[in-house]
Amino acid sequence: MKVFKFGGASVKDSAAVRNVAQIISLFDKQKLIVVVSAMGKTTNKLEEVVDALKNGDKRTYIHLLTDLKDFHYHILGELFTERHYSIYNTIDSIFEKLEQKFEAGFSDNHSFEYDQIVSFGEVLSSHIVSAFLMENGFMVKWMDARKIIRTDNNYQEGNVDWQKTEELVQNRLINEFKENDILLTQGFIGHTPEGFTTTLGREGSDYTAGILAYCSNAESVTIWKDVPGMLNADPKYFDETIKLDEISFKEAIELSYYGASVIHPKTIKPLQNKDIPLFVKSFIHPENDGTIIQSSTKNDHLVSSYIFKVNQILISLTPKDFSFIVEENLSEIFQLLAKVNAKINIMQNSAVSFHFLVDAKKTNIDQLLKLFGEKYLLKYNEGLELVTIRHYNQETIDKVIAGKEIMLQQKTRQTARIVMKDLS
Ligand code: ASP
Ligand code: MG
Repeated sequence: MKVFKFGGASVKDSAAVRNVAQIISLFDKQKLIVVVSAMGKTTNKLEEVVDALKNGDKRTYIHLLTDLKDFHYHILGELFTERHYSIYNTIDSIFEKLEQKFEAGFSDNHSFEYDQIVSFGEVLSSHIVSAFLMENGFMVKWMDARKIIRTDNNYQEGNVDWQKTEELVQNRLINEFKENDILLTQGFIGHTPEGFTTTLGREGSDYTAGILAYCSNAESVTIWKDVPGMLNADPKYFDETIKLDEISFKEAIELSYYGASVIHPKTIKPLQNKDIPLFVKSFIHPENDGTIIQSSTKNDHLVSSYIFKVNQILISLTPKDFSFIVEENLSEIFQLLAKVNAKINIMQNSAVSFHFLVDAKKTNIDQLLKLFGEKYLLKYNEGLELVTIRHYNQETIDKVIAGKEIMLQQKTRQTARIVMKDLS
């Protein structure tokens, strides 16, 4: 049995949904668990719906829901040309439920309210895809992930209860294979012991595929994407990208740690634990090989990978009493940074200063000045880039630093990290 995951881009319109059916038909008579995300940009829209509800802004609330309705009914209209299909009733009643939610209001628990609404993106898309597959002769059963993936009450970032989830997968999900070839369910969502809906964090559908594969002992997971596989750099920043044909779980975890965003970082670990290979393949060219992520590290060094983070701020702290930077200051600095939830991308210290790099978007300099101003002199440089090169050599370094001023540099055996300023 295999697990497939189709993300938002692979179900963004009716042609995309037809393409999903086309891909699944290539695996005729095989047992598949199919995980789908919300269609296109639905999740972003639902986040706006949550804000409108929080603000008590009924006009915006209804307006956003109308947009979402139009979007989904347009896709439905192109997939099911006649209104008699029962899928219309299913979708009607979901939107009715969403409309009624406005009257119920918004509690103090923002994350809880968020999950009760944002989860509907996946519910809608899974019903539509499932109905379309059924209509086209596939033996498919729609399954509710809110009854299978068990989490704690940490809304917006549910932590999986592995034991309970495994039990639910084995008892409820796997059983359904007796009469069906395809079990189709939602990514990104789960439920608490009390039965409330949770989400697993943005882009969490990959993680769902990993969880279900782990709990069902699947033979493999395939994530179908709009790129040929995992690339050695983001095409946004690099003209010539190379596909990674085969890398290890370990390498994939490293790449995502440094900021490569092809796969949700939590996805890899459960697969690595059970040695279940993960394929990243193109939904445009399903016949092509894509990338395979598996246990062997033998090919990891073959291609250098580049991970860029732009819009970085390098902050330097120097104790005002001219003391050296020693363990005591460091522990104080880290405590203060943890207080404001700062995410450090790279750090380094010299005798009298501590330097760290953060995303400008997530940083409030005034807040940091207040926090550190009494004891430390704080200086900063804005508009910087951080590039991480895995499996670097001098040639790859020269390529990225051309026309840049280097502000900070760190190298380990496999990884070079350079903070730089564009001089052009
Ligand atoms: N729909 C969710 C999101 O956009 C989950 C996912 O797509 O993986 O974050
Ligand atoms: Mg997505």
